[in-house]
Amino acid sequence: MIKLRRSTVGVIILLIILGGIFVWGQTQNANRNANRKDGKDRPGYVIMISIDGMVPDYYTAPEKVGLQVPNLTLMKNGGAYADGVEGVYPTVTYPSHTTLVTGARPAIHGIVQNRIFEAPTDPQTRAWYWYSKALKADTLWTSAKKAGLVTAAVGWPVTVGAEIDYNVPEIYDPSETLPTWKRIAENSTPGLLEKALGPDYGKKLSIDDRLTTVSEFIIKSYRPNLLLIHLIELDGVHHRNGPRTKPAIEMAQREDGYIGRIVEATRQAGIFDETTFLIVSDHGFSKISQKYAPNVALAKEQLITLDANGKAVSWKAAAWPAGGSCAIVLHDAADKETEAKVTAIFSKVAKDNKSPIKQVSTRNDLRRIGAIPQAVLMLEAAPGYSFDDALTGSEIRDSGESYRGTHGYLPTNPEMRASLIIYGARAQSGAKLPLARMTDIAPTAASLLKLNLPQAEGKQMKDLIKPAVAAISSTN
Ligand SMILES: [Zn+2]
Repeated sequence: MIKLRRSTVGVIILLIILGGIFVWGQTQNANRNANRKDGKDRPGYVIMISIDGMVPDYYTAPEKVGLQVPNLTLMKNGGAYADGVEGVYPTVTYPSHTTLVTGARPAIHGIVQNRIFEAPTDPQTRAWYWYSKALKADTLWTSAKKAGLVTAAVGWPVTVGAEIDYNVPEIYDPSETLPTWKRIAENSTPGLLEKALGPDYGKKLSIDDRLTTVSEFIIKSYRPNLLLIHLIELDGVHHRNGPRTKPAIEMAQREDGYIGRIVEATRQAGIFDETTFLIVSDHGFSKISQKYAPNVALAKEQLITLDANGKAVSWKAAAWPAGGSCAIVLHDAADKETEAKVTAIFSKVAKDNKSPIKQVSTRNDLRRIGAIPQAVLMLEAAPGYSFDDALTGSEIRDSGESYRGTHGYLPTNPEMRASLIIYGARAQSGAKLPLARMTDIAPTAASLLKLNLPQAEGKQMKDLIKPAVAAISSTN
């Protein structure tokens, strides 16, 4: 018998243990794959593509505006869709996108506006709610992560610092006249942009072309179970020119091409048959020609004090505009005297003939519709009007040649309706809703991946999706 030294015996025992762990790991992977093969535990894939500011008639009646959108048309005809989606107040990008991934309204999910409130006496950094730490509700990605699924997001709002496996968040430096990708690169999954776009981040491509190229790369390289994509260029064209204008039509056609490329990437990745696509938007659009500045009215009534240069030196109430609506915030939320004054000021303006204010929502109204708890009241603009936060000048001005469309109005305004098409593996082909609710979209996406969204206020849209078993048997 060979006599072994104690240290040699130790090494052998260690090797046996490590070997055991390796074999156990392999068995676990094999079990998981076996489960995936029989279909029972297969989570499938969900890709949500948001075309910012897309109005639903771009896919319900494209011919009426001379629009050619072959991909949207194929998805609508082969899948399920809504004639429109009623959103949340204010109908702006960040609150709406957060509802799309939480199923909750802004008062619950915490993203009550695009831009964070900055007092008129503070430096105006124009920062938005970019950081995921501001989220107060579980999202599709936090639930997917808990379930052990692979997650990805490209250009999605409020995802800086989010626990997303492959993340290219939306963020920019407001002081840059032409936003660069510097901040995006700093906050993306390390190395991801270089791999997807090359060392110059694909600078020659337009923004949405870049976001699409990154999405194609992620799909083909990592096959995430959940992928959220936010394409933004149509919104900018709508703001500058108005909806259904010639530049808007051209841009919508390009967005359709990007959607086609994303679908094609799933075919190349071999996951098309197991992928459900949700094509959504965050809000509609209205044409505008005028702007109203509530801060000018507040300054006239001494609720904002200006120095000789028109700079604010103190304030009791201030505007927090969101395009077609505008929150009014008090310096001291318990200041009843100022609350009474601002209510009187804007109620009087709203009563005028041809007033820029259509209606004033009180704290109670806002609580009921789940909007912006920080506001003492919310102004709703009359048709053709938008709000801004100018402190000086006339209360009403022309909106300017390069600002002809906006949103932010009450979600009950039919022009503010957003979009929804469900297409692919789990879409109930031929199903249609006249009006969907934005709060129902996240619970529907969650049900496809068997996820739970505890703070969701909406419900799964059962009529628009097929049960999982039918989807899997169709792919076998
Ligand atoms: Zn938007």
